[in-house]
Amino acid sequence: MDETHCDRLDDYLTGKLSTYRQADFQKHLKGCQACRDAVDEWQRLSRTLAAATGRLESPSRAFLEQIETVLSARQDRKGEMLCNDGEA
Ligand SMILES: [Zn+2]
Repeated sequence: MDETHCDRLDDYLTGKLSTYRQADFQKHLKGCQACRDAVDEWQRLSRTLAAATGRLESPSRAFLEQIETVLSARQDRKGEMLCNDGEA
């Protein structure tokens, strides 16, 4: 275990290392199981996060149709709802 290199793990994962140090760290990764595990874990998390964000940014067609159905149903009842509001 090479402490100096292991200390740079966070900077490597967040892309803060210079190109030279990045290459240097990648060499270290080949010989350091602890850092490889951490990098694997980070990449798994990043993918999960990207997938979750992607779902939020582009809702499925079915979900959009559901919203349209709810909206048009509300519009159909608009007059009725206004009357109820007036009575309240
Ligand atoms: Zn290491």
